[in-house]
Amino acid sequence: MPLPDQHFLPTRAAGLVHLRDFVPLAGQAYGARRNFDLGAGRHGENVSCLSPYIRHRLITETEVLEAVLARHSPKAADKFIQEVFWRTYWKGWLEMRPAVWQAYRAELGWQLDRLKTESGLRRVWQDACAGQTGIAPFDHWAKELAQTGYLHNHARMWFASIWVFTLGLPWTLGADFFMRHLLDGDPASNTLSWRWVAGLQTRGKAYVATASNIETYTEGRFSGVTGLADSAHIPEGPDNPAPIALPDFAPLADGPTALLVHSDDLALGDLTRAVPEPLGTAVLGDIGHRSPLEMSPHVQTFVDGAVQDTVTRWADKLGPVSRLTPEDVAEWAAALGARQVATLYAPVGPVADDLAAIDHALKANGIPLIRLRKPYDSRAWPHATNGFFRFKEKIPALLGAMRGFEVV
Ligand SMILES: Cc1cc2nc3c(=O)[nH]c(=O)nc-3n(C[C@H](O)[C@H](O)[C@H](O)COP(=O)(O)OP(=O)(O)OC[C@H]3O[C@@H](n4cnc5c(N)ncnc54)[C@H](O)[C@@H]3O)c2cc1C
Repeated sequence: MPLPDQHFLPTRAAGLVHLRDFVPLAGQAYGARRNFDLGAGRHGENVSCLSPYIRHRLITETEVLEAVLARHSPKAADKFIQEVFWRTYWKGWLEMRPAVWQAYRAELGWQLDRLKTESGLRRVWQDACAGQTGIAPFDHWAKELAQTGYLHNHARMWFASIWVFTLGLPWTLGADFFMRHLLDGDPASNTLSWRWVAGLQTRGKAYVATASNIETYTEGRFSGVTGLADSAHIPEGPDNPAPIALPDFAPLADGPTALLVHSDDLALGDLTRAVPEPLGTAVLGDIGHRSPLEMSPHVQTFVDGAVQDTVTRWADKLGPVSRLTPEDVAEWAAALGARQVATLYAPVGPVADDLAAIDHALKANGIPLIRLRKPYDSRAWPHATNGFFRFKEKIPALLGAMRGFEVV
């Protein structure tokens, strides 16, 4: 029976229902069927649809992996485990190359400026975003994304490939279109996947969608598609920068502490354990910075709900809760009499940019911002130095460290 993938209720309880229902499928069935896109309403038959929950850490990667390993052997669930670690790999890769995120934002700003003056480009972009290109599957996916906030991985690959190579649109505008609509829109997974399709991530290796592949993996829902580009014109771009070390932050000190909660990591256990009696908690919930353009209301509704669910579940550990904009945090912390503010680490992206600005303003009041990084991230990210193939070799050790057992 199809799982309710069209109903991404923004609560941890709803995410746990997705996880429970999916776990039996996470073994060999996932390996065999994960590439088939059966269309909205049927995705849950082949893939987990957990990405909006994992993205905001309503459910953590560790919880997902543990649930799957409680039911399947590492070998049987090999494919699924690898996909979860693709997320971890992308996060680590970007964390050690923040310049790639900054370059994406700069290039996006430039392409958005071009839209203001180049009417031909603007028309193609508008038609692509509205699903009015005349390429039936592409138009279908544009609308599915706007309506549901989700696309199957294979549809994301086909869509991005057609965007770049058939329509000739800049990849950054496509990445931004995804960021505005995906409930799981993620600075690392999204930016780097678009770069990968366009041939920038693994230099010279691009992904070219073909009509026969689309027909096979949509089980004939889209057959006889014509007019797709059959080769890749890879856009210009600089070489990937060398990885830099992950940033280190000061540890928590004793003394009156306030908490800061944000939508990049809503698994508050580490934070509330580290600071059992906070003076109060500031909550940042605005996601406007994910794109320079207007975000889909679906995404804001999901994030608002996820933040509200989290604050409600942890109410007895947070003290008085204030919803604030980043600009108000420093004054709030000073008024509370905080000697430090503690928050969960936000990886490279808009929330980390907000935290940097907050850090700066807090420092002016002599209050440090302490970022707590989860051990799962600290263990895995430094291995994202090369391609995924090298990273993958570390998965057994990372699983072992996570669970405290040897993986054979
Ligand atoms: C152009 C493009 C853009 C993408 N943008 C995003 C994005 O903004 N946010 C995002 O979370 N994923 C993104 N992905 C990766 C992937 O498509 C989604 O994570 C996946 O489709 C989510 O569906 P699921 O939860 O059913 O995945 P499942 O197949 O059930 O996988 C389980 C989990 O593993 C992770 N995962 C699976 N595949 C990938 C992958 N290829 N890369 C990274 N993580 C993966 C996700 O957290 C996912 O929830 C993108 C892929 C492409 C090709």
